[in-house]
Amino acid sequence: MPGNSIEELPGVGPATAEKLRDAGYVDLMAIAVESPKVLAEVAEIGESTAVKIISAAKQAADVGGFETGDLILERRKNIHKLTSCSKAFDELMGGGLETQAIAEFFGEFGSGKTQMCFQLAVNATRPVEDGGLDGDVFIIDTENTFRPERIVQMATALDLDPEAVLKRIHVARAFNSHHQMLLVEKAQELAHEMNVRLMIVDSLTAHFRAEYVGRGALAERQQNLNKHMHDLLRFADLNNAVIAVTNQVSAKPDAFFGDPTRPIGGHIVGHAATYRLYLRKSKGGKRIARLIDSPNLPEAEAVITVGEDGVRD
Ligand code: ADP
Ligand code: MG
Repeated sequence: MPGNSIEELPGVGPATAEKLRDAGYVDLMAIAVESPKVLAEVAEIGESTAVKIISAAKQAADVGGFETGDLILERRKNIHKLTSCSKAFDELMGGGLETQAIAEFFGEFGSGKTQMCFQLAVNATRPVEDGGLDGDVFIIDTENTFRPERIVQMATALDLDPEAVLKRIHVARAFNSHHQMLLVEKAQELAHEMNVRLMIVDSLTAHFRAEYVGRGALAERQQNLNKHMHDLLRFADLNNAVIAVTNQVSAKPDAFFGDPTRPIGGHIVGHAATYRLYLRKSKGGKRIARLIDSPNLPEAEAVITVGEDGVRD
């Protein structure tokens, strides 16, 4: 939560805060779940001080807790489903992309990930009875591939007012992975004044991949990606929003995940994403979407097309 900085913890002065940050303890949660012995070592403080700091961090951080099933069922009743404009794809997803969840689209360059994001953005602005979420859309664009002209084309094809649609789509360029992560925090602030129902991160992994090169950097990359995914999931829960992220499969073997058909970010991204969808090109401009590892849906495929009008059956 904003405003909760590690300096506010009793026993943490500027020098200790700096040591903690340098060691990667950038928020209260990271400290709350650490052991006193390790924390004492990295911050060069006594173990009893570390115990006090950790206990205060536990109170300040929202470490979560147990909820009864009926409360969870109640919250899940608020889940909405966002259409893709393809019946086959919506059926694959049990009616559309769920709110309070992350859908990860991964596939090679040109497989239709960004086009799918555009279509979802347009659809999210539509009324609920048309398969939309009647909401605003945030797009974190990391590869400079947002094209308002494509939104206009897709909106026009659905008989929507393109300008009205564009006014509900808020786009931010992320210049590096750190900026990308900050934008999620910023988005959460802005979401108080808007009805944000869809957040897109296209691409989730490109900056991380470019910045953390080699085996030595892998642990840090995965740690930050993990935090990023959890921030996104939190955004989804707080706003009853759909999160759609894209991920490229590495054409060249990744430093660690050598298999060229594996999405970047490996298990970290895979476990945090609620739904993983593998997009691949097929004959005649068709695309095949394969649902992988879903908690409640069978592994299956849908054939979609991507054309000037957008995504269709
Ligand atoms: P990526 O998976 O790399 O994000 P894209 O989503 O950008 O790929 O998909 C690019 C493909 O989308 C193009 O190869 C083309 O098939 C299709 N496409 C993009 N723009 C149009 C358009 N205006 N009309 C028809 N098809 C388009
Ligand atoms: Mg793209």
